[in-house]
Order: sequence, then structure tokens, then C-alpha cells
Amino acid sequence: MATLYIVPTPIGNLEDITLRALRVLKEVALIAAEDTRTSRVLTRHFNIDTPMTSYHEHNKLSKLEKIFSTLESADVALISDAGTPGISDPGFELIAAALERGYPVVPLPGACAITTALVGSGMATDRFLYVGFLQRKTALRAQLQELKDRPETVVAYESPYRLSETLSLIAEIMGEHRRVCVARELSKKFEQFYRGAAGELCAHFQAENPRGEVTLVIAGADAGAAKWSEAQVQSALSERLAAGESLSRAARTVSKSAGWTKNAVYQLGIEND
Ligand code: SAM
Repeated sequence: MATLYIVPTPIGNLEDITLRALRVLKEVALIAAEDTRTSRVLTRHFNIDTPMTSYHEHNKLSKLEKIFSTLESADVALISDAGTPGISDPGFELIAAALERGYPVVPLPGACAITTALVGSGMATDRFLYVGFLQRKTALRAQLQELKDRPETVVAYESPYRLSETLSLIAEIMGEHRRVCVARELSKKFEQFYRGAAGELCAHFQAENPRGEVTLVIAGADAGAAKWSEAQVQSALSERLAAGESLSRAARTVSKSAGWTKNAVYQLGIEND
């Protein structure tokens, strides 16, 4: 029986495709892609001329039979526009149906915004809860109430247009001092991590709405107000100093989120000057 490969593609930086992904995409008989136009940019770049068919939110059930008719005799690779298929992207139904029909399913490790944002956030990674795209408006309020006391780090996808409103609700419901990380444009030229207290990041993004793609990481309830490590304080301090803030002002702001005294942050800044 032929194999269905689940192939992650880069979330921004084309260098993040793996050698194995390239080989599989070249060797399979058919690539099922979320958006064939988007994926042709990728396959052209890597000189892959494997036939492609669309497999997206609106045809994912009707396309199953076509994909299975190929799978009867030849391997198929599933890709999405970016990152890992099935993660807030089409894929789940195809994978479940392939397993049900007894086809081998081989997932390749690769790019995914969840883990990239999580490890870059500096927050606890031993357990985390991925909630997909955050809800909107009233439903978001209820969702944040539900997440408020969860001990795990929470990872969510969010639109840049809703970011400041969402941060404001996080500050209101989970507390102004809840640590949050906004991971923006991961792996791309203008990648940025904003780490700080919900109230502070809310004020920042009210003044400046970010563009591009955003993943949000929220500290778990147990760790939310925990003291930051020296490395985290130094990193937050360096970001502010690089942005032109005075040491005194940066120390005051960082101390509020870090659980350190302003003086201790200031001293660290002087020592590492
Ligand atoms: N399947 C993808 C993955 O494995 O990460 C996620 C697809 S989901 C439709 C797209 C969302 O993922 C974006 O709206 C954003 O929240 C997040 N995302 C994708 N690429 C990103 C990037 N380069 N930087 C930050 N967030 C990103």
C-alpha cells in the first residue's frame, strides 16, 4: 500500500525546508496542497515538478476520493500554505480517513509556529496548551476566563488586527502582570519577540499595531507572576535599551513584569554595560 506523507513547509524562511521534505516532495506521485498557487512558489524554487492538486477547507471532503485513488498505487504528500499541515490548517480529515482505510501515514518533523514561538518566549515548555486561533469578542472573554487558572503555558494564533484588543482583555481578565510574549514574523527578516506583562504589551500595541503574522504565548497561572531568570531580565532590558530607552526607564518597566526590584534590574544593566 502506498504512503501518505505529511510534509511541513517553511513558515517564512525558505531555508527551513528539510532535506527529507525536499526528497519526499520530489518522489511522491501527487502533492495535495492547501493552495496550489502558493505552493507552486515553493516547488518552483526547489525545482520540484511533482503534479499538484488542491486540498483545502472547502473541498477537503470531496477531494478525498481523488487522493485515495492515487494512494491506491502511489505515494502522496500533503502540504499546507506554511508550517505543519493539520495544525490550524487542512489535514486532519485526510489523515484520519487514510488511517481508517489502512494506509501508512508518515509525518515529517518540520516548521511549526507553535513550537518556534513557545521556545523563543522563554516561558515554561514542560507543558503547554495550544488553543488554535483565539475566539472573538464575547467568546474570547469566556475563553480567557476559562484559561485564566490553567497552569500550562498557553499558545494561540491571533490576527495582528485584533492584537491590542486581545492583549487588553488578557490584562483585564488574567491580570496586568500576566507574562505574555508576542512572537511576530517568525523566521522572517523582521522577526520580533515582545516579552512583557500583559498591561505593558497592551499599551505598546495600542500605540503601534503590528503587521504580519503573530503567535501569542501566555504564561500559565502558576508561573504568571514568577520571577524572571537573569537571562530573561537581561534580554528584556537589552531590547529596550536597543530601542533607545534610558537604563532607568527600561529598568523600571522590566522590573514590573520580572518580579525584580527596579534597583536590581538597574544594577544588572550596569554590570552588563
Ligand atoms: N500550520 C501552521 C503552523 O504549523 O504553524 C499554522 C497555520 S495557521 C492558518 C496561520 C497562523 O499561524 C498565523 O495567523 C499566525 O498566527 C501563525 N503563524 C504562521 N506563521 C507565522 C510566523 N512566521 N510568525 C508568527 N506566527 C505565525
